[in-house]
Amino acid sequence: MIVVEDLHRHFGGFHAVDGASLTIGTGSITGLIGPNGAGKTTLFNVIAGRLPPTSGRVIMDGEDITGLPPHELFAKGLLRTFQIAHEFGSMTVRENLMMVPARQKGETLWNAWFNRNAVAAEEKALADKADEVLEFLTISHLADQKASQISGGQKKLLELGRTMMVDAKIVFLDEVGAGVNRTLLNTIGDAIVRLNKERGYTFCVIEHDMDFIARLCDPVICMAEGKVLAQGTVDEVKNDERVIEAYLGT
Ligand code: ADP
Repeated sequence: MIVVEDLHRHFGGFHAVDGASLTIGTGSITGLIGPNGAGKTTLFNVIAGRLPPTSGRVIMDGEDITGLPPHELFAKGLLRTFQIAHEFGSMTVRENLMMVPARQKGETLWNAWFNRNAVAAEEKALADKADEVLEFLTISHLADQKASQISGGQKKLLELGRTMMVDAKIVFLDEVGAGVNRTLLNTIGDAIVRLNKERGYTFCVIEHDMDFIARLCDPVICMAEGKVLAQGTVDEVKNDERVIEAYLGT
């Protein structure tokens, strides 16, 4: 689904991503691991259109998407979530979901601006969809809470929920488990697996929690110093000498 070819991203003389090549297969939950500073987040930023690459290409379903801005990637179904969730704190959880812009033309509230009945119908459809998403994520009880009042892990679920509002094809998740308790991490993991199996989402996940990676991800890609060191099953990557060395060297 995504092919990254010899990608470089330099900051001045520093090569944060230094010739990374990798493939994210359609329908996979691909794990991206590696020591701090390996270039994982920079790679995500380049794929997701937040940073232009210095050189190299990103191909999605055969199409060159290198350097496309995030809104164009969004329209193609490529989304990334952030280490720090970006919610609107003063709005409720349901309203946060309803704020996600439509990916397909014709679904948007703007198109119905001059037609009050159409606006009401669209709003109802969005609210229904938001409720369906909350039920899927097992957080219906949070629908009317202010987003500022929910926990860090619940915010992560809300971020996942936003991708469901637009029926994403491929989602890049950055450190989904950071600061999240074990119970909620399991809920997030279950949601990812169900989105993958039941809705055909492809995921690429940066995560430091190896239990989480081992439970969810196949394949796993390990980066270090801007390069891909190994790609394979969790066990293959874990036992790869270059991977062990990269982790020991940090
Ligand atoms: P990881 O996500 O694997 O921890 P990052 O992609 O965040 O790694 O960072 C890779 C390296 O690139 C780090 O050494 C970091 O300091 C550097 N880096 C990241 N962004 C910038 C930037 N905007 N300017 C300069 N250096 C950066």
